[in-house]
Amino acid sequence: PSITKGENKEIPIVSWDDIGGLKDLKKELQKAVEWPIKYAAGFERLGIAPVRGVLLHGPPGCSKTTLAKAAAHATQASFFSLSCAELYSKYVGEGEALLRRTFQKARLASPSIIFFDEIDAIAPKRAGPGGNSGGSVTVGERLLSTLLTEMDGLESAMGIIVLAATNCLNAIDAALMRPGRFDKVLYVPPPDVEGRYEILRIKTQDMKLGEDVDLWKIAECTELFTGADLGGLCNEAGMTALREDLTASSVHNKHFQAVRSSLRPSLTKAEIDKY
Ligand code: ATP
Repeated sequence: PSITKGENKEIPIVSWDDIGGLKDLKKELQKAVEWPIKYAAGFERLGIAPVRGVLLHGPPGCSKTTLAKAAAHATQASFFSLSCAELYSKYVGEGEALLRRTFQKARLASPSIIFFDEIDAIAPKRAGPGGNSGGSVTVGERLLSTLLTEMDGLESAMGIIVLAATNCLNAIDAALMRPGRFDKVLYVPPPDVEGRYEILRIKTQDMKLGEDVDLWKIAECTELFTGADLGGLCNEAGMTALREDLTASSVHNKHFQAVRSSLRPSLTKAEIDKY
């Protein structure tokens, strides 16, 4: 289970060390998310305004959700996660009610982190100054205005930080990034070779590997693979070893190579260049 349940508390058990690479980004997040929660008294004493919201953007499968969970784990904050695409698809009024309820629960369980996945679903860029709805208020606009009202209402209450993720920063309404809202925007890039090596180490730490497995070599030949892809690769290599011999005691280089040659990375250079 990725969540520990306590009285009123759901804290993810994933830590910063479970995330490979992204050293500087983790530091940025620690500063933005951990400090205001851990040193809330200091912020108040010195009159420093904590970051209210952090927007993580970057290609899918590169750990945006996991980073949000690790931030909650590091601060022992309750973690609330909402998919904006799901909010959007609810019956009229239900999405807003769920949003308000979530902020209410987060206040009660503070310190809390509220995570909005696919925020672009409710905060699309407006067509012009008058918006794109031709006067009538759309579902997305209502959800967005509820979210912003709730975030504005957090002003006085320390200990609640809102994180959001998107694969497409360009599609987001700039109003979301005004000060006091998502005032920090961080890019979560696909892993470079060092990052891939660290991810492979993390994903294989409980596996029995043969001595011929060279994770650095695998990292070198997995350009454009996301963290999610690499997790899948390791798992599939294990399954291949087992399929080959049900009594196998370790996973070997040939299993990784066989899977590698049958897999395509989920990213393309052109896609990455868009970020
Ligand atoms: P999406 O945009 O599709 O929601 P995401 O960016 O939020 O994706 P996650 O859901 O955090 O990505 O990650 C997907 C899977 O890949 C998880 O199982 C996660 O553990 C793994 N993963 C991705 N990046 C890393 C990484 N840098 N280190 C370790 N695991 C990773």
